[in-house]
Order: sequence, then C-alpha cells, then structure tokens
Amino acid sequence: MTVTAVELAAADLAALARAATDAFPEEACALFEGWRAAAVVRVARVHLAPNVAEDRRRGFEVDPRLLLRLHRELRGSDRDIVGVWHSHPNGSAVPSGTDLARAYDRSLTWVITAVTSAGAGAVRAYRIDAQSFTEIAIATP
Ligand SMILES: [Zn+2]
Repeated sequence: MTVTAVELAAADLAALARAATDAFPEEACALFEGWRAAAVVRVARVHLAPNVAEDRRRGFEVDPRLLLRLHRELRGSDRDIVGVWHSHPNGSAVPSGTDLARAYDRSLTWVITAVTSAGAGAVRAYRIDAQSFTEIAIATP
C-alpha cells in the first residue's frame, strides 16, 4: 500500500530539531524504528546516528554499525527500520539529487529537517516513487 503519512511524536520531532541544531553546519542523521499500519508509517523510536560521511556538511551516511545492530535487534519482532532522517544545513527541507542517488532502500520513509545558524526550521516527509521523492504528511499523535 502506498504510504501517505508518517506519524512522529512531538517529543521525537523536538529531539530531531535539537540534533539538527547541534550538528549545524554539518548534517545530522537518524533511523526510525517502527511499523507500517496501512498507509501510515508509525515511528516508535528514533535512533540518532553518527554521520560517518566524508563531507558531513554536504551529505550524510548513517553509521553502518547502527544499521547492523538495529537489524539484529528487530529481527523476529513486529518492528522494522521504517525510515531515515537527516538535516539540511542549507535551510531547505527538500531532498537533493544526492539523496535520491543514495536512496538504496525505496521502502523507507524519508524525513528532512531544514536548519540554519538561526536554528531548525521546516520538517518535511517523503516516500520514494520510482525515480522521485513524493511529499507525504507528518502526523503527530
Ligand atoms: Zn539530503
């Protein structure tokens, strides 16, 4: 089923805004643990991840050790890695061409927080359709 919304708790959104501000001018990143309920992706837990990209001001790469650990922990549970988050220190919450090129797992929901020296700004969520990002809603329970 096509995903049309991602559900993120207000506390998680606040934590992401903080992480984006703390990492500025570099990109911050995280993985979302949760599950899919029909067209909605529910985020149960946010795992902030070390950004191990070579150029952290222009990109992100989630520490593969976190990815591996989560895959192990969630195996056999009803939860999965359902999304990836990162910040854009250029102040735009729109995915870049690099993001699309690096979106190896097209089932993941993407969330991007815009951040500038003035702090965190817009937060937008996307699913990946074929070769492009499509914006979806962010719901806060
Ligand atoms: Zn990006």
